[in-house]
Amino acid sequence: MLQTVDVGERSLSSYGGVAPEEMLESLRELAAELRGLRVAHINATPYGGGVSELLRSSVPLYNDLGLIADWKIISGDSRFFEVTKKIHDGLQGAPHQLSSEEMEHYEATGQANAAALTEEYDVIFIHDPQPAAILPFHGKDSTRWIWRCHIDTGQPNPEIWNFCRQYLLEYDAAIVTMDEFVPPDFPVARVEIFPPAIDPLSPKNMPLTDSTAQQVLNWIGIDTGRPLVTQVSRFDRWKDPLGVMEAYRLAKAEVPDLQLALVGSMALDDPDGWDIYRSVKEVSNSDPLIHVFTNVTGVGNVEVNAFQRLSDVIVQKSIREGFGLVVSESLWKGTPVVAGRAGGIPLQMSDGVGGFLVDSTEACAESIVRLLRDKDLARQLGGSGKIRVRDHFLLPRLLLNELSLMRDLITDRRSVPAELGRIRDPVCGMAIDAQTGLPVTFDGFSFTFCSERCKAYFLASPHRYIAALQGR
Ligand code: UDP
Repeated sequence: MLQTVDVGERSLSSYGGVAPEEMLESLRELAAELRGLRVAHINATPYGGGVSELLRSSVPLYNDLGLIADWKIISGDSRFFEVTKKIHDGLQGAPHQLSSEEMEHYEATGQANAAALTEEYDVIFIHDPQPAAILPFHGKDSTRWIWRCHIDTGQPNPEIWNFCRQYLLEYDAAIVTMDEFVPPDFPVARVEIFPPAIDPLSPKNMPLTDSTAQQVLNWIGIDTGRPLVTQVSRFDRWKDPLGVMEAYRLAKAEVPDLQLALVGSMALDDPDGWDIYRSVKEVSNSDPLIHVFTNVTGVGNVEVNAFQRLSDVIVQKSIREGFGLVVSESLWKGTPVVAGRAGGIPLQMSDGVGGFLVDSTEACAESIVRLLRDKDLARQLGGSGKIRVRDHFLLPRLLLNELSLMRDLITDRRSVPAELGRIRDPVCGMAIDAQTGLPVTFDGFSFTFCSERCKAYFLASPHRYIAALQGR
């Protein structure tokens, strides 16, 4: 069985007064049509990076809306993640090549994960290239399969793209963040374009008072009395941390007491992180005002929240970027951003809204200095960015997009009479024989299970399944 990531319970009603009310209402109406739908989101890592960030917030809300949703992660050894990192970079244009041995390893891991996917779902979202081969090895059945691509695949390295393309042939739909990201000769007929979103209520984005945020930063060694510029991102060459340090050096010539914080997380599927971290540390060792933190040394969501809230300027100097959740996270806190004009970043901000887009290290340094010197401008840009995030990049909007797509895709499936007569184990979704299954009556509802394990899962949180049943 693929490993399930535990997520807590959350309620859409808590987003009242935070996200636009009409958005929440549309979402409730749409979800009412999908109650009981079994959905899995499958990705490569339970922590580190934007995808895990999104799933941690969205999966519990699917459940609150009456769907039955799981977050599953694939397994792979370190070699597999080295190969998938190459694929990830190659899809963003890097000139890597895959050896036949690497291709075989990718396939063999895909095959093993496909065999481990034993539950049945109505809709499966596969995130990014790491788990993409599950579908051809698993087989489609009546499930609707969606490939969600989070990276900029607009100009991929042709060899890597040809390799990946073959695994996508059977997908029912694909989602990319921008039109420009659709790769050449894309084999999926239905392509949806919509960006990710941030969760305004997660510990990373929830309101924090300035005094709490100050306390958090002081505690880890930041002097909140000095100006502070921060970049929050994985240690990844596309995020250009060395370029950020160079821009900081130029800005510091104008603002001598300036501090820089580089806050980076390590992800299970990102084996290059430590090498890049070491190069960053080599440079930072010569300047006591450069602070480098990682999730491994205890800088988690609340610390990131405090950095994004109290920094004078947030930098995201990406060269390639899928979306860059960190931009919306920072703007949501009213902090202005100086960011590379890359991938999905210009969707979130433009010159005059949110901060400045830059194309060079020098321009990055100049924009930082300008915002440090002109506090009114910084406040105004941060404020306009926050409004943009509220209207376009909060989680309920993303759920609305995903649910609409699922509704379209399952319309046909729901009209197939044979499906309606099936008895399904509510936990694993498998079709079972009423004679041999394990029956349970709970709150007046009858359920049948394929195994003691599924029965135990049901009894641990029966209301999740009953709520879904009531809506059917
Ligand atoms: N992040 C974090 N701690 C860190 C660095 C990053 O929690 O030290 C989070 C960050 O806040 C954001 C996500 O990781 O939510 C990164 O998503 P983004 O879309 O910016 O980039 P990705 O890593 O997916 O390329």
